[in-house]
Amino acid sequence: MYKSFLIKYAEIGVKGKNRYLFEEALVKQIKYALKKTEGEFAVRRTDGRIYVDALSDFDFEETVESLKKVFGISGICPVVHVEDEGFEKLCEDVVRYIGDTYPDIRDSQSEASVVNPRSGFTTFKVAARRARKNYPLDSMQLNVELGGVILDAYPKMRVDVHKPDILLHVEIRDKIYLYSEIIPGPGGMPVGTGGKAMLLLSGGIDSPVAGWMIAKRGVKIDAVYFHAPPYTSERAKQKVVDLAKKVADYAGPVWLHVVNFTDIQLYIYDKCPHDELTIIMRRYMMRIAEQIAKETDCLGLITGESIGQVASQTMASLAATNEVCTMPVYRPLIGFDKMEIVDIAEKIDSYEISILPYEDCCTIFVAKHPVTKPNLNIIKRHEQNLQEGIDELVEKALSTKEVIVVQA
Ligand code: ATP
Ligand code: MG
Repeated sequence: MYKSFLIKYAEIGVKGKNRYLFEEALVKQIKYALKKTEGEFAVRRTDGRIYVDALSDFDFEETVESLKKVFGISGICPVVHVEDEGFEKLCEDVVRYIGDTYPDIRDSQSEASVVNPRSGFTTFKVAARRARKNYPLDSMQLNVELGGVILDAYPKMRVDVHKPDILLHVEIRDKIYLYSEIIPGPGGMPVGTGGKAMLLLSGGIDSPVAGWMIAKRGVKIDAVYFHAPPYTSERAKQKVVDLAKKVADYAGPVWLHVVNFTDIQLYIYDKCPHDELTIIMRRYMMRIAEQIAKETDCLGLITGESIGQVASQTMASLAATNEVCTMPVYRPLIGFDKMEIVDIAEKIDSYEISILPYEDCCTIFVAKHPVTKPNLNIIKRHEQNLQEGIDELVEKALSTKEVIVVQA
């Protein structure tokens, strides 16, 4: 029944001379999302609108699911195309469209049942648009005439021009387009319009959600994972790759930098007080992530931290971790409770992967009683113990990192 989709996008960011950048990025992301969807599609921009046209048979549900993952889309309208074979034929097509799209309305006409339990009527409005100017009726005439035809066919319907239950769009083009349904999109901005940031991606629940939230604002995501073999297994690494894929479903391909962190971790374990281990380790993660971010043109770092969640995320701990970076560090979950984070993780389908019980490099060497109020001066003094060997170890970690391009 449906041959194309009209893509609605939020007004935000589309004004003025940057509009075409927004639209081009949106078209690119739509094409990327549809690449793995059954069927062939053309994505086109006409008259300040974006249409997705099906060029072959396609799976409606699957296509809608793919489009729901494209940031920047506020609504997805499935469109029916009918040939222009005169006004009589258009009237028949419109009546059939209403009956097919809203079977309840068609079925209710003959029975005593009603559609809108409050008033007994379903309200509608026709919004015609004559994009092809040689059509014999203008938009106003079309609204009136087609409204009359619908009232005749479905006596349980009423016109409401202010708040109709059904807003039927009729667009006169080379063909005639009919649509009335809007499936909500994810909102946000098209990925690529906001630069790029480096996500510190662990195997936990939080960091994939943090990446998703920043991607939603139009930011392309690369990621870094600190791996500690043999303390963390290949399966733990595969889990992170799988999580990166969940982010890539929305954000496009994710370049995942896998850094071998074992020697650095052992060295810190050897030289520093164990209750400060996590903080010092986190400071080295941030330093290394920032270095990779600078080399890859990222404009910021992203973490899944949230105030007070664990010892390393108290205000004092966050301050100590933050101190090593000059780049902005984005922490989109900073004020979220765990339950709120879990809700999003479930929505983006990362939760089931995150809760798989593989070891995490942060917990391997973790102290029984980690500091919750680290004193920055003391931390810095203890980091002096690392002076001899740490630069070389960081150098080695950077030069031996592995890059995995994770596709949706
Ligand atoms: P998550 O659920 O995302 O693992 P968490 O609650 O376990 O977070 P921490 O282990 O303290 O919290 O880590 C805080 C943040 O530091 C993570 O959200 C992530 O951004 C980053 N991080 C932690 N461990 C790693 C790692 N091994 N590789 C990359 N980033 C990491
Ligand atoms: Mg973690």
